Parts: sequence; structure tokens; C-alpha cells
Amino acid sequence: MPRKIVAANWKMNNDEYSSKKLTFDFLKYISESNNTKVLKILSVPFPFLNTVTKMCEGVDSVFVSAQNSSDYSEGAYTGEVSAKMLSSISVPFSLVGHSERREIFGESDDIVFAKTRLLLENNITPIFCCGEPINIRKDNTHLSFVEEQLNLSVFKLKSSEFKKIIIAYEPVWAIGTGETASENDISEMHRHIRSLIKSKYSSSLSNDISILYGGSLKPENAKQIFDIKNVDGGLIGGASLNAKDFIDIVNSIN
Ligand code: PEP
Repeated sequence: MPRKIVAANWKMNNDEYSSKKLTFDFLKYISESNNTKVLKILSVPFPFLNTVTKMCEGVDSVFVSAQNSSDYSEGAYTGEVSAKMLSSISVPFSLVGHSERREIFGESDDIVFAKTRLLLENNITPIFCCGEPINIRKDNTHLSFVEEQLNLSVFKLKSSEFKKIIIAYEPVWAIGTGETASENDISEMHRHIRSLIKSKYSSSLSNDISILYGGSLKPENAKQIFDIKNVDGGLIGGASLNAKDFIDIVNSIN
């Protein structure tokens, strides 16, 4: 059975004070809801990883994630943050291949794969993001587009490595736009990804991998989306910046 996971992505928002406040409020709601069956992950900006990690220490089923890491292991790469550095401060997860990294910062599938590799080598679980832009969806080639993203990156992993990753399907046109993919769109893609994993690896591996949906998830649509077959949770951007909205989304999962 895949693990149920709800992950926040704060993106480049919050300063130190508001990060602490958001974490504090979130942990207060968590202690009231006592929902330990869902893994909660907070993907916070680099400068606040340590602070938020310390605040979450000892809280059952809550973990911190980086939003990015370098495709180089170490050296003269000014401004980069390596997987090894993240590992040295006990960061257990990192997003990789988020569409904003791919689109704004030009990250290719090769770069996404290099990052994934380094994360795994440093015992950090990659939350691998994939998803099609609007023109691909309009051309009706979204299934093969996402298949190619997988083939050019995480499907190059051995099964012993692949089994450690989490997949997040995020149609680019639904991220931060308020436009959510329809139940049919989500169901079709999640089924497709699971069946690709089955053909590439094995049925048991495909049944164990968590596949999250991301794209304008909010308290109002979370339950409907989490109830779709093959959806094992969500990756939440905008709505995760409000502790009450985020916990309402967490509590929408069965
Ligand atoms: C995201 O950033 O991964 C995301 C899904 O954003 P939003 O929820 O704001 O669409």
C-alpha cells in the first residue's frame, strides 16, 4: 500500500518570523487533530530548514523537505546547495523537478535526474515532480509527455532506488492558477503513471509508490481529489501558506 502523504510547498515565501508562526500554527492544529496516518511534509526555503526542523522534532509523522538541491556534488558552484549539505542537517526529503525549476530555471530532464541521483546517494527521499504544460494538454499528448519525463529521469533508476521515491503529478496549467484538473484528467494520468511503473519495474513496486496530485488543491476540492483512485495525497503550494487551510487539506484524506 502506498503511504498517504500531504506535502506543503512554501516556494519563495515567508521570512523567518512568518515561517516560525506558520509552523507553530500548523503544529497546534496537528496536535488537535492527532492525524498520524498521513505523512505531513513541509517544503520550506533553505534558510529556514534548520529552524522548522527543530520545531517539528519529535512530532509524529511531520517532516521537513528542501525545495531543490544542486545537480553537482560539491565544488566551485557559488550559491548552490548540495544534497550532502542537506543530509548533514538531517533533511529527509527534497522536491526535485518542480515545474517552476524546469520552466523558469531551465532544468532539463538530465539535470533533474542528476539531482535525483545525488539525493538518493545522500539518503534523501526525492519528491519527483512531473506534469505537462497547457499546449501539450491541448494537443492531447499529455500521457506520452509525462511518460517521456519519467523515461528520461527516474525510470533510469534501479528498482532498489526507484522504490524510495515519491512521485507528484502536477499539470503545469493547474499550478497556482486556481484551475484544478478534472477528476477524469487526474484519474487518467495517475492510472497511466502506475501502469508505467508496473511495466518498467513490477506490480508490487507500482502498488507501493505514492503518487501525489498537485495543482490548485484547496480545502474545498481536497476530499474529492483524494478520493480518486491512485491518488495517494497531494503537493500543495498556495494553500499551504495558511495553516488552517493546510490542515483542512490534510484532514480531507482518508
Ligand atoms: C505547487 O507549487 O507544487 C503547487 C501545486 O502550487 P498550487 O497549489 O499553488 O497550485
